[in-house]
Amino acid sequence: MRSVKTSYARSLIEASLDPLVTISADGKIMDVNSATEKVTGVPRQQLIGSDFSNYFTDPQKARDGYRLAFSQGKVTDYPLAICHVSGQITEVMYNASVYRDEEGDVAGIFAAARDVTALKKAQNELEAAILHMQLIREMTDLLQSCQKMDEAYPIIKAALVRLFAGSVGGLYMLDAAGNSLVLVDAWGSGESELETVFTPDECWGMRRGCIHIARVGQSINPVCSHVKPGASPYLCIPLLAHSRALGLIYIECRFTSENPEDIQRELSIAEAAADSARLALANLTLREELHELSIRDPLTGLFNRRFLEEVLDRELLRMSRSGKMLAVAMIDIDFFKTFNDNYGHDAGDEVLKKTAQLMNGFREGSDMVCRFGGEEFVVVTTEIQPDKILRRLEALRSAIETLSLKFGSHQLPQVTVSIGVAIYPVHGRNRLDLLNRADQALYVAKEAGRNRLIVADDGADVG
Ligand code: GH3
Ligand code: MG
Ligand code: MG
Repeated sequence: MRSVKTSYARSLIEASLDPLVTISADGKIMDVNSATEKVTGVPRQQLIGSDFSNYFTDPQKARDGYRLAFSQGKVTDYPLAICHVSGQITEVMYNASVYRDEEGDVAGIFAAARDVTALKKAQNELEAAILHMQLIREMTDLLQSCQKMDEAYPIIKAALVRLFAGSVGGLYMLDAAGNSLVLVDAWGSGESELETVFTPDECWGMRRGCIHIARVGQSINPVCSHVKPGASPYLCIPLLAHSRALGLIYIECRFTSENPEDIQRELSIAEAAADSARLALANLTLREELHELSIRDPLTGLFNRRFLEEVLDRELLRMSRSGKMLAVAMIDIDFFKTFNDNYGHDAGDEVLKKTAQLMNGFREGSDMVCRFGGEEFVVVTTEIQPDKILRRLEALRSAIETLSLKFGSHQLPQVTVSIGVAIYPVHGRNRLDLLNRADQALYVAKEAGRNRLIVADDGADVG
């Protein structure tokens, strides 16, 4: 009868999927089930009689738990990690309680472990996912407050550095012509190895319009030609918005494992970060383009009158502190109407464009050239010596005079300009005064026979 009972008890213990163990009062293993053999990799005969704390990554913590069970009668959910002979670690939670002999005295501890490796992993993943979501939300918030692209780049970089710890990477933006991806920010120890400029065609991510991952496991994905030879897996995440390419995020990842689930998780993070970045960058691009449109003259590409007025007011405020001179030159094409009359409006437009190009090329430092209206331009230039200002403007007048212009097969006649100059603070201290005085000087230049430069006030003819 007794042996039937014993074998029934044995079979119950063996039926347990959780590792079970009984430990004597002096800390020696008295009995184990096969789940314990499995989790330690040690055979039952060897386990029995050995010190129970040998099989944990932290033997001291195991002994503390054992003592606690003795003093309190039990411990529940006591976290430990069992070390398999192969080195593999199993995270467990112990429930342990004392058991008594037939006289009712404490004989040892009965302990049952529950494998929580999967639970722990899920918990860690959940915590990491929450952290990643917070980071991406923070990045999105910050990006929404950016006013310029330059402000957005370091924010995107900082978030990616934290989302992909230990990675090397770069943020590329497509240039205005859409021909090249230009590195605008980079991170990680190998950042100097990154290609600084390449064409969108050299990237599989850009070509396919979706995340490209290469050098991972059995993947047959080709390696992009902008990527230097090496072994690291990498991601190319194209930044597309409203079917327009804006740029690219390149990340060389240190994947914790090549397990497809882990890689998929990294891809999801990359996707979420890129989604936020691309929308913010698209908004900023749109904002910058609208601003450009609002300050540029469409025919010549020069700044328009509205923008000139805004900048001139600001410059004059700055001038009062710098001790420099500022010249406002009003430049008007001579007999421009005859270009239109003789060769047509399109030829007139061509003259305006080419003259504007030449003036723009004449800029130095903070000079500003604007189309004031019709065939009138304003050049604003700052300088310490007024002589130098006049010499430069005179050189501009003479360069226009020698400009050779063609419209279709027609050689156009010589273009000349008359220039009226007013200088801050000599001829005025505010925008309106300076523009009026320059305009008056221009009128004098026209009256005096055109193709000349006249400075306000004294009417000195420098041309
Ligand atoms: P002046 O030497 O006195 O300045 O003579 P002008 O012929 O240059 O001056 P006027 O003011 O009589 O004529 C300016 C002409 O510029 C008239 C106008 O049709 C032309 N114009 C203004 N804007 C444009 C433009 O965008 N394109 C073209 N083709 N012509 C323009
Ligand atoms: Mg004119
Ligand atoms: Mg005019």
